[in-house]
Amino acid sequence: MRERIASILQNPDCADCALGPAELPAGVPPMECKNLFFSYHEGSPAVANVSFTIRPGESVALLGPNGSGKTTLLKLLTGLLTPDAGEIKLVGKTLDAKMAREVFRTVGFLFQDSQDQLFNNFVEEDVAYGLHRLGLPQAEIDQRVSLALHLTEAQHLAKRPIHHLSGGEMKRVALAGLIAMRSPLLILDEPQNALDPASSDHFMELVEHLHQEHGYAFLTVTHKMDYVPRLAQRVIVMDQGHVLADGPVRQVLTDIPLLEKARLSPPGITKYFYELRRRQGLPQGDLPLTVDEALKQA
Ligand code: ADP
Ligand code: MG
Repeated sequence: MRERIASILQNPDCADCALGPAELPAGVPPMECKNLFFSYHEGSPAVANVSFTIRPGESVALLGPNGSGKTTLLKLLTGLLTPDAGEIKLVGKTLDAKMAREVFRTVGFLFQDSQDQLFNNFVEEDVAYGLHRLGLPQAEIDQRVSLALHLTEAQHLAKRPIHHLSGGEMKRVALAGLIAMRSPLLILDEPQNALDPASSDHFMELVEHLHQEHGYAFLTVTHKMDYVPRLAQRVIVMDQGHVLADGPVRQVLTDIPLLEKARLSPPGITKYFYELRRRQGLPQGDLPLTVDEALKQA
């Protein structure tokens, strides 16, 4: 895949053609939130006192059991819901009602259900939709659509009707629509949900590439713990609307009591080594996060 993408990117001579994220002012994080609260109704809030910052080009995994407030938080960060209290800044600017209409310039939101995201009849129309809203010239729209579809390995789907696509193809087309916009922060809500293992792998490989080679920042909700060490440098754990932990991936994913408190499991290989050592009465030491790390310890 890398070679194919490299060959596509060799040709263009304008900066936009590489479809990296739009440049941020130096040192300004794409997203900051402080003391966010949100309730759907009376009673305990769905999001309670949540604060964190996403730094430029950072990839963060957002973990938590069902109902812990992850999707609600993502909707607040993308202006689809308005917080009861607290502040959100996107590229240094406070997200208010006026700015909410412009959020798509900074943040791309991949909905959990692609059917909620893709609403045009044909793939290339859908990928171009946001670009028309930006008022770009047609030649640039065509170029961006073509590159975005290449980068998500969906070029061959350009003329297809959306309703003929498989689940994995829909996800890649939806992602193409976001990177066509060059939003520096991409927010993904359970992107692997309902994908088979091969499509799930393929999608995550694309995300890894867009993060590592193009510098997009990601905030990704996932329950696929085995992917988290590949996907993210940092992990935020939510439980009952609160942030229970926020730290480097190794620190959080090897803290088994903390994960159990949030009703989560570590990656399978980490769990195996943890149980093995616990049953043999051995110190936990450096628990591996991946099969490769485990093999090095063997
Ligand atoms: P997660 O994405 O972590 O599964 P959600 O943000 O979807 O969690 O839900 C957090 C809480 O808010 C849950 O208790 C859920 O039932 C409630 N909730 C979510 N959406 C709505 C809604 N539209 N109306 C009322 N309550 C909701
Ligand atoms: Mg959710």
